[in-house]
Amino acid sequence: MISATIPNELLTPFKPVDQVALREEYAALAELAVADCGLDHLLSRFLAHAVRLFGATGGAIWLRAPGETKPSIRAGDAESPAWQAVSLERELLIRHAISRTKSYFLHPRGTGHSRKSPCNPTDSFVLLGPVDSQGDRIGVVELVLGRRPAHGTSPAEQRCCANWLDHLTSFLRQGIENRFLGNLSPLQPALVNLAATREEIENYQRAIRVSLEITLNCYAGSSFGSLNNNRTFTKTVQELLDSNGLRVECPECGSPAILRCQAAGNARTGVFLYDHYLHRGRTFHGGPTTFPKLKLVSKPPRRAAE
Ligand SMILES: [Zn+2]
Repeated sequence: MISATIPNELLTPFKPVDQVALREEYAALAELAVADCGLDHLLSRFLAHAVRLFGATGGAIWLRAPGETKPSIRAGDAESPAWQAVSLERELLIRHAISRTKSYFLHPRGTGHSRKSPCNPTDSFVLLGPVDSQGDRIGVVELVLGRRPAHGTSPAEQRCCANWLDHLTSFLRQGIENRFLGNLSPLQPALVNLAATREEIENYQRAIRVSLEITLNCYAGSSFGSLNNNRTFTKTVQELLDSNGLRVECPECGSPAILRCQAAGNARTGVFLYDHYLHRGRTFHGGPTTFPKLKLVSKPPRRAAE
């Protein structure tokens, strides 16, 4: 969390009467970082506060999404009068600003010094504040301050304004990280989504199991007249169960088993057997001569190769 207490060094250059308004804007911007609103709302509200705080004539917030090379405007003036006919130069300035670590002032075209950056092609003062997220340059706050800025005519005032913007962009960074970057690293929400889907599938599977159990148990105690018929029925049941990831529970040992019908001794139509692998190897349990009452269970994981 960022503290909403305004550092003294930001306030001392200002008259007490201005300090009250500055404190209010500062607190509003700190609150905005954690407010319950979407990214676009955050950006436009941030910009509105910043424009008021710096007495700007306009501005914009530029963001660069991960993987993108160029930042683009997400809030503010795409067609600001100050930038008319110089939009290419404006983009150059923003791409330069996004590579910087601190906010800085640009003097109007043809005045002051422009050692640090491409030339300001407008006749306004411009204040640029890079926004960074753990070393990634993610955006720029651009404020157009007009020919005579409300604050920032002397070098000392300009340093103070740049300092202000650095503090404010730290709120913006926090707000963007909370909403934007968090959404782009979506492992946690994806896992939650998969868990919900798994639960939904398990509910369907349970419903299928119950439905099959009811159907099959209609035939409990039945025989289909011959060994061949009993085998055909049992094989079809087994295919149906297998395609739904199911087995029958052996009534003798409780293990998941495959139901089979086999010839045995003097049982003319065969016997129904539970075929399963137990710790001692493949084992058959059971032996009723009529189709047994079944309890269906999930297919166990595949046995390791022996
Ligand atoms: Zn058994």
